[in-house]
Amino acid sequence: MQQVDPRRLIPRTDRLLALPAVAAARPRLSETVLLALVRDVQDRARRGELPPGEVEDAVTTAVQARAATRLQPVLNATGVVVHTNLGRAPLGPAAVDAVLAASGYVDVELDLATGVRSRRGAGLRAALLAACPAAEDALAVNNGAAALVLATTALAAGREVVISRGELVEIGAGFRLPDLIASTGARLREVGTTNRTHLHDYADAIGPDTGCILKVHPSNFRVEGFTAGAPLADLAALAAERGVPLVADIGSGLLAPDPALPDEPDAATTLAASADLVTASGDKLLGGPQAGLLLGRADLVTRLSRHPLARAVRADKLTLAALEATVTAGEAPVTRYRHADPARLRERAERLAGALGAPVVQHDGRVGGGGAPGVPLPSWAVRLDEAVALPLRTGRPAVLPRVHDGACLLDLRCIPEADDGRLLAAVQAALATLPDASSATSTPSSPSA
Ligand SMILES: *Cc1c(COP(=O)(O)O)cnc(C)c1O
Repeated sequence: MQQVDPRRLIPRTDRLLALPAVAAARPRLSETVLLALVRDVQDRARRGELPPGEVEDAVTTAVQARAATRLQPVLNATGVVVHTNLGRAPLGPAAVDAVLAASGYVDVELDLATGVRSRRGAGLRAALLAACPAAEDALAVNNGAAALVLATTALAAGREVVISRGELVEIGAGFRLPDLIASTGARLREVGTTNRTHLHDYADAIGPDTGCILKVHPSNFRVEGFTAGAPLADLAALAAERGVPLVADIGSGLLAPDPALPDEPDAATTLAASADLVTASGDKLLGGPQAGLLLGRADLVTRLSRHPLARAVRADKLTLAALEATVTAGEAPVTRYRHADPARLRERAERLAGALGAPVVQHDGRVGGGGAPGVPLPSWAVRLDEAVALPLRTGRPAVLPRVHDGACLLDLRCIPEADDGRLLAAVQAALATLPDASSATSTPSSPSA
């Protein structure tokens, strides 16, 4: 009897594309993507990695597993609140609803009452001014870097930006503020030294070529010891006397002071000290979407918004919606996580640890995103074997733990309490993948608190 080549038994492409799971995926996946998934399974069967009889099931599984985006939601168990690699700030429910509402046609640049074109982002502007009354006007752009670029371009391109040598910082991977400013065509007029800059250093540098004075919050580093900086109010008085604008890049984006973060600048205090313009990020401590904020003197904000570059860095409707909702709702998830009650965090950690038979240890979280370096956020973590970290990260839902000192630590600060059950299930699933599951929950010499 003649032997049938098993490859001839592999289902044909048209038959696989007609499977119910493929039909169900059509609103989400294009024909190109579906075809690629089908071909991939057929190729595995041709290579003998999959019996022909299992091809249909494999296509069904592959199609069902393929989401429209490869971005994976992650449970953040690191204790780092503004986590750059996890998209910084998670949006709160009001912002999520706003994004959904704005995803269709919206009146982002239209006055529905008159039917004529209106100012873009008027709702966000009103919300920002209500939350930060010290600002005369406000403008949102693509991100904090764009806010700084727009300000220095509009105020100082071809002229000088006077800045302290102690504030020529690099923030995040390779992002150097001096390089960014220089790219606008403004010249850096560096004053003072790394550790000490005095008011007279600024006074000596200001001249007919000065476009603006820039004060930058060094964010993720601190200079300690023999240091000096010009107080903001003194610098503002000098700027006013000499008729040059004072721009303050506060970074993290607190609109009002937070007593728990005494060294973190905020927009209200900075404007009250008579800075002319504040720039900040929308997705650090403000807890909104990626955005850059410009707050301050009305004539300067108008000047910036009319600059041609403003169009290139403008925020899209989804950002405007999410940011307005974040400011209006008042308490973003990052704020709640930062202020989480350590006793409650301990209770939750002990419940999780109890279910896993693992120890609980003291653990310090961090603000992250360049905010409040050196300020610990005291918490508790469930301690597991380091080997659990990989299956946790690659599981569904993905869980990002902190790997430290040969251990895998789960800090619940940035996990919504409603997700504690999902986290437990994810950890159990990850532990089950390990060869010796029983030893993974208890590391020797673990100092149980
Ligand atoms: C983070 C930061 C920026 C950049 O803001 P992005 O929103 O990341 O573009 C600029 N300046 C300071 C002081 C910062 O902390």
